[in-house]
Amino acid sequence: MLDRQSATDSISHREFRSDEFWREIPEWKDVSREDFGSHLWQAKNSIRKLAQVKEVLGARVDDSFIEDIGAAFRIAPMNVRITPYVFSLIDWDNPTDDPLRKQFLPIASQMLPDHPYYLADSLYEDVDSPVPMLTHRYPDKVLFLPLTTCPVYCSYCTRSRIIGGSTESVEKDTYGPNPKNWEAAFEYLRKTPQIEDVVISGGDAYNLPTKYIQLIGETLLEIPHIKRLRYATKGIAVLPQKILTDDAWVNALTTVHKKGRALGKQVVIHTHFSSPREITEWSQKAMERLFSEGVTVRNQAVLQDGVNNDPEIMIRMTKQISYMNIQPYYVYIHDMVPGCEHLRTTVGEGIEIEKHVRGTTAGFNVPTFVCDAPAGGGKRHVASAEYYDQENGISVWQAPEVKPNELFLYFDPIHRLNPDAQTRWQDATARRELVRSAVNQVNPDLSDEQRDKIGQRLEGIVK
Ligand code: SF4
Repeated sequence: MLDRQSATDSISHREFRSDEFWREIPEWKDVSREDFGSHLWQAKNSIRKLAQVKEVLGARVDDSFIEDIGAAFRIAPMNVRITPYVFSLIDWDNPTDDPLRKQFLPIASQMLPDHPYYLADSLYEDVDSPVPMLTHRYPDKVLFLPLTTCPVYCSYCTRSRIIGGSTESVEKDTYGPNPKNWEAAFEYLRKTPQIEDVVISGGDAYNLPTKYIQLIGETLLEIPHIKRLRYATKGIAVLPQKILTDDAWVNALTTVHKKGRALGKQVVIHTHFSSPREITEWSQKAMERLFSEGVTVRNQAVLQDGVNNDPEIMIRMTKQISYMNIQPYYVYIHDMVPGCEHLRTTVGEGIEIEKHVRGTTAGFNVPTFVCDAPAGGGKRHVASAEYYDQENGISVWQAPEVKPNELFLYFDPIHRLNPDAQTRWQDATARRELVRSAVNQVNPDLSDEQRDKIGQRLEGIVK
């Protein structure tokens, strides 16, 4: 690992891994560069089952590690799906500590009980949904979810309630792309003139077939008041080969982009690198193609324990994606969703890391660290909590232009607090008192109705 000064001053972020790293995986040692570079080969050989993990690794890891993965399969809310690209970037000599393995292939021995106040739909996307597949929270922006599958499944997914199919522990209503089901969303957008901005997510826009990339893009561009489209995909980070070899898909995207430009509208990609270890020459080449087509790409990362919660790593990633012409946009404090307590960090840690990243490069390339306030407060700058009891890990947020007169609470992971605070959290009465006190610090005069609104999701604790 780089020391901090060298992370800031180094020019090593301009170097991109170009070796044939997949040959370290016994099953893929004879796979040619051409095959490995094909998005079809990547999709076909993606890892989805425990038996495949065993098969491709052979004797690279011991049986107890495989059993640990198998135990996680039984309790994790996300299914496993990993492209060979990501799978072979994992350091299989030390998979326990590897940041890529942690993001995509959980092991039961690292998982922790969920926080008492976790929410399956932490961001209230379903609550703020006027019609199926659409979330409308901010006045001029909507989130459109035309499908709920992805090229990889991330352990930290904020939509684990619907993404990637049912698991042994969670029943889900996962759905694929079907234009008939999108008409209600399109109709809502046509008749809601304040909306200017549509995020096309999911799931992952990478899994939208070519014809639907174009259909969705062109349908939305035809709506006069819609000015900005963002296709959201983790694909550039986990399957850059698609940008390089799926010409039809890329052409559909660039066609929509060109039509948008002709109409004076933005069509961009939002992607999702969370670790510099995800970046190779494949990523750089994919970005060269998109950049040459004039497509703007922005990045949204999730702050995760043991993955990127370190200033040097975040500085490195910020500089490297900037060098590839990706604009660092957001770093999210991990949402309070189930099955990933071991990956969450504290709000305080986010504040500290942002301080270090700021000043290492041009301001427009410094990502904004945000907490997406649970229960639909929306993204708030990480240092803008109305009140933060750092010892007990309770922050209280307001969103005056999104949901006036409401308070939103985020809770740091209990295992990251000091032992006394951890003990307080074990006691139901004590933790209610902590929360009540935090709420009263911000507004002791809340009405019963306002308290009920907070209390409904926190066991009625704030009265
Ligand atoms: S790519 Fe996005 S939607 Fe898909 S599993 Fe990962 S975080 Fe969730």
